[in-house]
Amino acid sequence: MAPQRVFSGIQPSGELHIGNYLGAVQNWVTLQSQHDCLFCVVDLHAITQPYDPANLPALTTDMAVSLYAAGLDPERCIVFIQSHVAEHTELNWLFSAVAPLGELERQTQFKDKSQRQESVLLGLLAYPVLQAADVLLYKASLVPVGEDQVQHLELMREIARRWNARFGQGYFPEPQPLLTRTKRVLGLDGKAKMSKSLGNTIGLFESPEAIWEKLRPAATDPARVTRKDPGTPEICNIYTLHQGFSPPEVVAEVADKCRTAGWGCIDCKRKLADHMIATLTPMRERAAALKRDPTGVTERLRAGAQRARTLAQRTIVEVRERMGFLHE
Ligand code: SF4
Repeated sequence: MAPQRVFSGIQPSGELHIGNYLGAVQNWVTLQSQHDCLFCVVDLHAITQPYDPANLPALTTDMAVSLYAAGLDPERCIVFIQSHVAEHTELNWLFSAVAPLGELERQTQFKDKSQRQESVLLGLLAYPVLQAADVLLYKASLVPVGEDQVQHLELMREIARRWNARFGQGYFPEPQPLLTRTKRVLGLDGKAKMSKSLGNTIGLFESPEAIWEKLRPAATDPARVTRKDPGTPEICNIYTLHQGFSPPEVVAEVADKCRTAGWGCIDCKRKLADHMIATLTPMRERAAALKRDPTGVTERLRAGAQRARTLAQRTIVEVRERMGFLHE
């Protein structure tokens, strides 16, 4: 595939865990060598849910450090903080001239989350409009997403179509989804999606001992009651994690030994722990080095925002022009 502009964002939820890593960031690290990529810590999106302003700066920095430590290289992609580029909020508002309210109200995520809020906030409803602004500001044509974001992407395409129809045919591309290889990682309980708030995660920078302590009791195929019972790898979360961390020949061995009861689940988990630790150890070391140099992190983020802003301003000038705003 010829290089294209790629945009993706991640919430400032502090340090990455293996679920975020396998679900998104592992793929981003590959994409940065293939495409022209922007990766953004979307702190403006974070305020659409209840949050503590006192914690937001540290959560944002920790996420940025995690992205660098996981392998995003400022020489090969642009990493920045969303609120550092004010054009995101401007385009968000300008899109309110074409964003369809009925379709926003029909978004599954809005319906789910609004039911859990006593007083529903405008930001929650308008979240996909800001997402459209995030991507289209850079005229990105590819968006790496999980399956749960496909509906938002369709709305983004609709906003691009409506804006183009009214203000300039062909101006914005209609972004396409890039679905990630490991789509959905369950938590260690094997039930819910992996999430820090549920306490069913392994952090990207945990020590080898802590990783093993968490993997050892993790849920497996419930039909494997004794070591002699054959299992079904496809329904076991440990197998999903092997697919994320182990080389293909080991994944094939895991599937075979599981189906034939060739080993016990503890053997299987030990193998997973070895590959997970081998992947995560250099990341933990890079994160420690970055944390020792907070000024360096700030400078990297400032440079990333500057590069993003240069692209964003070009779009905003053209959009203002096409929408009929008077020059200063
Ligand atoms: Fe899961 Fe491995 Fe046990 Fe099979 S052998 S059920 S893949 S942990």
